[in-house]
Amino acid sequence: MVRAYLALGGNVGDVEQAFRTSLAALRAQAHVEVLKESAIYRTPPWGKTDQPDFLNMAAEIETDLSAHDLLDLCLTIERASGRVREERWGPRTIDLDIIAYDDQTIADERLTVPHPHAHERAFVLAPMADLAPDLMIAGKSVRDWLAQVDASGMTRV
Ligand code: ATP
Ligand code: MG
Ligand code: MG
Repeated sequence: MVRAYLALGGNVGDVEQAFRTSLAALRAQAHVEVLKESAIYRTPPWGKTDQPDFLNMAAEIETDLSAHDLLDLCLTIERASGRVREERWGPRTIDLDIIAYDDQTIADERLTVPHPHAHERAFVLAPMADLAPDLMIAGKSVRDWLAQVDASGMTRV
């Protein structure tokens, strides 16, 4: 079994319900155990700012799926919750990203782990700090990265 961290986010429809549905879908998987859930945060949009606020959270899981099979599961769960891929960083019902998978580094055309933007995104770092403040990403702990980014405008729900 491998420890992995997932980031969940969305800003269309009932996002808290989409979180519950997604976590239930993960729990229903024989290959995934959900160990811990972070708090939920309301966060201003990142990248493309002319859209509604997001809700974000993170989950710590244990899995015997390969990283790529875990990615496929995440994409399946996104589709099941009605996500339609339009523009990158645009509005979505649910985004389910792999932040870290064991201490592995993966970089191929489908998957980059640790997630390449995790360490610069308060909306990933704050929920991750609830779960694993000492986890190392891009050479620094989640706690240290969080202290460096702009987390203003983020509130705990
Ligand atoms: P960002 O990657 O900046 O968070 P996004 O989550 O909005 O953007 P998506 O549209 O959800 O991007 O995903 C596009 C593709 O990113 C997926 O089809 C997947 O193959 C790829 N991808 C690469 N690394 C990861 C990862 N660590 N977690 C999830 N998807 C990833
Ligand atoms: Mg994302
Ligand atoms: Mg994504």
